[in-house]
Order: sequence, then C-alpha cells, then structure tokens
Amino acid sequence: MEKVTEYFGSMVFDDRIMKATLSEKVYKSLKRTIDRGTPLDISVANAVAAAMKDWAIEKGATHYTHWFQPMTGVTAEKHDSFISPAPDGRVIMEFSGKELVKGEPDASSFPSGGLRATFEARGYTAWDPTSYAFIKDGTLYIPTAFCSYTGEALDKKVPLLRSMEALNRQAMRILKLFGNDKVKSVRTSVGPEQEYFLVDRDMFKKRKDLVMTGRTLFGAMPPKGQEMDDHYFGSIKPRVAEYMADLDKELWKLGILAKTKHNEVAPAQHELAPIYDTTNIAADHNQLTMEVMQKVALRHNLVCLLHEKPFAGVNGSGKHNNWSISTDQGENLLSPGETPAENAQFLLFLAAVIKAVDDYQDLLRLSVATAGNDHRLGANEAPPAVISVFLGDELTAVLDAIEADKPYGGTKKEKMQLGVDVLPKFSKDATDRNRTSPFAFTGNKFEFRMLGSSNSISCANIHLNAAVAESLRQFADKLEKAKDFNKALHDLIRKTIKEHKRIIFNGNGYDDAWIAEAKKRGLCNYKTTADAMPHICDKKNVEMLTSHGIFTEAEIFSRRDIMLENYVKTVNIEAVTMIDMARKEIIPAVAKFAADTASAVSVKKSVSKAACKYETRLVTYLTALIDEMDEATSTLEGIAAEFKTIADIMPASEFVRDKMLPAMDKLRAAADKAEAITAEDYYPFPAYDKLLFGV
Ligand code: ADP
Ligand code: MG
Repeated sequence: MEKVTEYFGSMVFDDRIMKATLSEKVYKSLKRTIDRGTPLDISVANAVAAAMKDWAIEKGATHYTHWFQPMTGVTAEKHDSFISPAPDGRVIMEFSGKELVKGEPDASSFPSGGLRATFEARGYTAWDPTSYAFIKDGTLYIPTAFCSYTGEALDKKVPLLRSMEALNRQAMRILKLFGNDKVKSVRTSVGPEQEYFLVDRDMFKKRKDLVMTGRTLFGAMPPKGQEMDDHYFGSIKPRVAEYMADLDKELWKLGILAKTKHNEVAPAQHELAPIYDTTNIAADHNQLTMEVMQKVALRHNLVCLLHEKPFAGVNGSGKHNNWSISTDQGENLLSPGETPAENAQFLLFLAAVIKAVDDYQDLLRLSVATAGNDHRLGANEAPPAVISVFLGDELTAVLDAIEADKPYGGTKKEKMQLGVDVLPKFSKDATDRNRTSPFAFTGNKFEFRMLGSSNSISCANIHLNAAVAESLRQFADKLEKAKDFNKALHDLIRKTIKEHKRIIFNGNGYDDAWIAEAKKRGLCNYKTTADAMPHICDKKNVEMLTSHGIFTEAEIFSRRDIMLENYVKTVNIEAVTMIDMARKEIIPAVAKFAADTASAVSVKKSVSKAACKYETRLVTYLTALIDEMDEATSTLEGIAAEFKTIADIMPASEFVRDKMLPAMDKLRAAADKAEAITAEDYYPFPAYDKLLFGV
C-alpha cells in the first residue's frame, strides 16, 4: 500500500513542485503574483508554462485545458493537446506562457445573459495563479476566470475574487484602527460539507427521471423511510465504504483535503467534509469534488446523486458553508480571542456579520435559489426560506448586556466595558447545537446552511463577502473619524445590535410559529426562486454590489436572467420528462395491470359464481386513477405548450411557479396512488424501496 503522505497532492502543481522546478527568480516572482496579485511578466509565464508542461508530461498528460466555472453551475473545459509539428514530420510537445495565461474557448454556448453580443461570441479565460493547476484524466487543468472581451465577468470565479478583495480592503481599514500593523491581507476561508446520495447504477438507468433530471419525479413512499433514524449512526456498508475509500484517494491525489465521511439522515445518503481552505480554492475544490464523486461512483457501478431533493418524502441534500475571516498572520477574526482587546475586535466583526445578514437577507437567500433547492428550503429538514442568525444563549446574553448597558451575568456589578472586560469563554458545544438555523455561529465561524448540494459555493460567498465588506466599510468610515476610539466602538456596536437584533433567532427554525414571528419582525420570506431572484436587481443591492466593484450593473441584470433561465429550463425538462414517463410507461403499466385483473375476473366468473369483490374494486379504483393520470397529463401537456409561447423570462418564471409546478404535483399525486396499488412486476422502473435500500 502506498502511503497517503506520499500520494497526497501528487497530481498538483503545488508550491513544492514550483520550488523544485522553477529557478529562484521565477519562483519568487510567481509567489509575488500569488500572494499579492502583482502582474505576471511574460518571461515568468513562459518559464512556469515550460516547467508545468514537463511535469505534466512526466505524469502522463498529453493535453491541457483552461478550466472555468460558467454560470450554468457546472464547470467547463476545452482540451488542447501539447503537440506541435516538427519539421521532420515528428511532433514536439509545446506549451507557452501565452497559452498558460490566456485562453479563448469558443464560448458562444455558455450563458451570458445578453452580456456578450453574438458577433463577438468569444470570451477569454485568464489563469488564476492562486489556485494550483492539477492533472486529471491525462489532462493538465489550469484554473481560470472567464470574461468577455469588454471585461465583464461571465463566470463565478471573477466576482468571487472581487468579493474577497472587497472584504480584504475594508477589513484592513478596521484592523489598522485596532493598531494591527503586521497584517498584510485578510482572507475568507470556507469548509463546505457536501451531502449526496448513492444509488445502484443499473436501477438508476431504468429511471428516465433520474437520468434526465437527477431526481425522481414519481415514487410512492416505501414502507420504511427514515423514521427509524437508524442510518445516521449505522455502520457504513461495504460497497459504500469501498467507494468512499476510492473517492478519498482520488481527492487526495488532487490535493483536496477530504477529511470526514459519514452516513447522513436518510437511507443511502452520505456526507463528505474537507478541511477548510481559502474561499476561491475551496470553491474550485468543491466543484472538483462533485465531479470526482460522480466519476468514482461509476467505477463501483453506483451513481452519485447531487440533486437537492432526489426523493420526495426523504431528507434532501444540502451543503453547509462554514465561513470565517482570517489574517495572513493566522488570526481568525471571528474567534473571540483571550484578551479584552481581542474580544472588542471580535465583537466588531461579529456585529458586521449580523448587520450584513440583516441588510442583505435577500441577497443571501437568492444566492442559494435554484429549482432543486426550492424543494428543500422551508421543508421540514432544511432551514426555512427565512434567513436568521443563531448566536447561542451565551453570546446573545453578552450582546443584550451591551445593548442595555447592563452588567453581563449575575456576578458582575459593572456594565460591560469593551476593550476592558474579558468576555466569558463560549464553549463550542453550547453554540453548536442548533441545526435548524440557516446561519449559525459555531464558536469561531459561521455556518451558512441553506446551500443546495449541487450549488456552486461561489454565489453564496460572493454575496456574503460583499455584504460583510459593506458593513465594515460603514464601520470604518465612522471609526476613522472618531476622537475617542473606544467610546465610538462601544456606541457603534451598541447601535448595530439595536438596529439589527431582529435577525437574531436562537429557537427552532422549523417551527411554524417562527415563520409567523419572522413576518412580524419584517424579515423576508421568499419561498421560491421566482420570488427571490428578481431582488438581486433591487436598488440597494445594485448600489452595494457595484460600489465595491463586485459586479457591474449589466452583470447583475444578466445574472438574474441566467439564474431564472436555469430555473425555468430545469422545471420544463422535468415537466416534459413526466409527460413522457406517464404516457409511455406509467399509464400503460397500470392499464395493463387493470386489464389483467379484469380478465382474471371474467375467467373466475366463468368457472364459478365467485363475486370477485376484491378484483372488481381494484379494477374500478385503477380505472379511476388511470383517468386521473390521463387528465393530469393532458393538463400538463397544455401547460408545456403554453410555456413555449412566453418570451420574457420574468413572466416565464412566474408561469413555472404558478402553473407548471402545481400541475406536475397533481400528476405525481395520481401516479403515486396508482403505484402504491399496482403489482410490482408490472411497474416499469424500480420503486423507492429498491433505490433507497438497494446498495
Ligand atoms: P460539524 O459542523 O459537523 O460540527 P466541524 O465544525 O468540525 O464539523 O467542521 C465542519 C467544517 O467546518 C469542516 O469542513 C471544517 O474544515 C470547517 N471549518 C472549521 N473551522 C473553520 C474555519 N475557521 N473557517 C472555515 N471553515 C472551518
Ligand atoms: Mg456542520
């Protein structure tokens, strides 16, 4: 057995390899670009490209690709081989600095929301040297950003990098005020916990809904669901354990810090968590993790489902975005620290996050809005569509004391004095018990729990970083002018708590009473993508995002359109798949069962005077359900036809929400009733019990 320490990162052109293969001068220059964003000289790029190529060829690679994250949600790549003809008829392997730094994928098929006029269909990709290149399937992958020729972002990486830079700028201003001179940069880190389902591949192939849409569009609940709660603590099945071991190995080779793996709440559901990393790298790695998860599954004759809601009535899959802010000196700014000064700084950053989440609830909500996640948010398993912040009782009590200018705790006589008093120690245990909160403080980081399992983490982090940068900007503007820093700080934190405490909620987020309470507090509750997405274009959001240079106005409008387009296209494909399955598979199967049962009645009646009560009742019920399915299918067919006539995206998204989805629900309800009483042998595809318990 090879040792993990030996093969970890073996497919990554990381710092070790750079040091070993580049001249000192080139290495230092590249490091400056990575750490400080200084522009890269073409001679340096050439030297790096040559070293990368030699290393990649040594590892068996023949091609390279600029790997990028278009707004479709999946990653894109176009492979070019290194070969170049030599005069003597042979080939040589070439890769220049120019090819490393800039690529021109034929990008006309990627959505741009009208940003890129058709006459200049080409955008370009630009190397992101802060994220290491790697080899996968014989190809050298170069992480890149994707822009139009006029400089507009056509991907998720560009705005993510911009949002990290915005937060860095503002946080640095704050740290200066606290006399923190050593810090050179501030970065956000993310550890995304990834949930997924595994199903048997042969069964998967029999289901058009899974194949076409990634989720089941029909399916009656099995006799045993997750009521028993025995899966979570259960041991991992051998076939799954083999998959997980294989997956870990593949991820480790790619330098991805896959750390924990375990079963999840639902049967066939599992989770993988990496060790956290800088946000843009975490985003690249999560994207890569999702790809590798699916690829490795096939080797085990399994399919990895990343859909948010593959099975109705069974827990869906999410992705917990653990997020923190830290300095290049290794200080976590969301950690309360030990001294009064550290505590005061912590409380200011905490206040900035609370204010950010309250001011930009809508941006956070819509950053996780997709057709798939709509099935999950607000259901009894995932946080509601309402955003709130969980702080835990201890920390909330501290904030209450500051707000009321009262002593904290029972023993102290004096009121809380920031910068003088030491905060009590918060035990992680006390802060980490609430699993129903969409945005929870967990001791030294926040956990944003609304992301869907298939979401790119970029969108959520772009909006989160931007919103926090905006709080910090406002804080810095005030504090920089203050004559008495400590007093100004105290007043600012107090005022922020007063103004934004409505967003703090420590109770059960799944409770209906909370939704009513949230409404009273004036919090947003956008239930669907169609409700949430248009708010990205609200004036306050456009102003904030553009003022920090994260998006241009045109980029914001294009993003709204692309996200809504994804939503309507996804649902439309589901509707069409349902029609196909109902017409060609389900109705014929149930009709056959009804016909066979009916002919059994006539046979039985011809040999005896049997009443055939059971069969008669069954045939009557089946016949009624067949009619119900037929009608519901006709209705859905009409709606699918009408959908095609709607040209504009906003009315189309409302039509999908108000007409198409309810019609799909109706068809499903009828079909699920039929499935529950149709003999298994007649059914054209495997039912829930086989899928969920078949691995
Ligand atoms: P759980 O949420 O299951 O209790 P942990 O709190 O240990 O698990 O960690 C969950 C995820 O949070 C992991 O991916 C971990 O790397 C990440 N994480 C831990 N500390 C930080 C941090 N300071 N910033 C961002 N992510 C973090
Ligand atoms: Mg967690």
